[in-house]
Amino acid sequence: MTASDPGYPATRAPERTDAYWMPFTANRQFKKAPRLLASAEGMYYRDTDGREVLDGTAGLWCVNAGHARPRIVEAIKRQAETLDYAPSFQMGHPLPFLLAERLADIAPAPLKHVFFTNSGSESVDTALKIALAYHRARGEGQRTRLIGREKGYHGVGFGGISVGGLANNRKFFGAQLPGVDHLRHTLDLERNRFSRGLPKHGAELAEDLERLVQLHDASTIAAVIVEPVAGSAGVILPPEGYLQRLREICDRHGILLIFDEVITGFGRVGEAFAAQRFGVTPDIITTAKGLSNGAAPMGAVLVSDAIHAAFMQGPEEVIELFHGYTYSGHPLACAAALATLDTYREEGLFRKAITLERYWEDAIHSLRGLPHVADIRNIGLVGAVELESRPGVPGARGYEAFARAFHEHALMVRCTGDVLALSPPLILDESHIDRIFERLAATIRATA
Ligand code: PLP
Repeated sequence: MTASDPGYPATRAPERTDAYWMPFTANRQFKKAPRLLASAEGMYYRDTDGREVLDGTAGLWCVNAGHARPRIVEAIKRQAETLDYAPSFQMGHPLPFLLAERLADIAPAPLKHVFFTNSGSESVDTALKIALAYHRARGEGQRTRLIGREKGYHGVGFGGISVGGLANNRKFFGAQLPGVDHLRHTLDLERNRFSRGLPKHGAELAEDLERLVQLHDASTIAAVIVEPVAGSAGVILPPEGYLQRLREICDRHGILLIFDEVITGFGRVGEAFAAQRFGVTPDIITTAKGLSNGAAPMGAVLVSDAIHAAFMQGPEEVIELFHGYTYSGHPLACAAALATLDTYREEGLFRKAITLERYWEDAIHSLRGLPHVADIRNIGLVGAVELESRPGVPGARGYEAFARAFHEHALMVRCTGDVLALSPPLILDESHIDRIFERLAATIRATA
């Protein structure tokens, strides 16, 4: 063992796989035919067999600046040597202050205050708690109801699964938060199949919020949380005008609007945040993933001036929000995030999803007509190919295509059910797009 070899063989397949209980994974199936990544650079992973695998998903929607970017790697190394950890409760260190200012600079205008977390799930639960406490601080403590949306994914905390709308993430866990309701989802293949960009039909689905207001009374509703583009349910896009209508209804009834931008943040749809791309400003934005380019766990909640101000009213010596994490504003994560934001800015990466959008759109829609392709959806540098389900075994065809793409065509995609989702690092060029879709087309042709 040397100083540069700490003795953890990270690039060799492990001899034993029993102890590790893998998340969101069919453990026994996986361990029979593992997909193990050993290293990564730019647009590519290398697996433990030494094969180069094209990253069509930016890891798990997070490595927006591509892998192993020197500036980010250096920043983490330097920070680990300088200050490995510092508490953030009644203590601090400089980096979260710097990072919060940088985030406030790129966020939509009134969202100028930042609360740090370590993940998307924590960001969501933090945002829900802030929304509840905000109403209470203003003397409207009866506003306790939270509204999510069918097919929404907001992480795995009890708050997130309660407002989330994916049955598998809820049904095994018994009780969820009380007083939660859900808007209808916006996926409508009948009317919008093979739409390019935002679907034309469905803005009226936002009126579902009016229905819930009538049912529960506005005075009981604290907040509505939606993903501007739902990612984990298989890339479900907001119909044209839908988010605007949601905003109007929230305003009419004093309900906070939360955009969960854990996936859509940091350039995925062509601006820093989807809020800017779609011209709708929420009261709170939740983020994670691309914030630190996936190089260190980190999340952040951006809140408006008005919300922040509501907390800053009492005596100065009183803690305003009884909430936080041991690792909120962790030095290594802050260093990674600052270097990530520099990389995005220097390389103009937030614009890539605009400049390449048309090429990406044409490429993904070229798969129309391949066997079992039921729908194709795209916006910015996100896309999804929905395959018809095999009768009686939903998800089987999607999983087969996902595994084939990796093992036979050296392409990493995501599958949720029978939807194959793509969200490549934003550093890609047209030749990578060609390669992604050549490989995906071959995969789909081979998948019965
Ligand atoms: N919210 C959204 C919209 C997400 O897509 C995700 C993860 O994919 C989360 C929350 C949860 O993030 P994490 O896995 O970092 O807890």
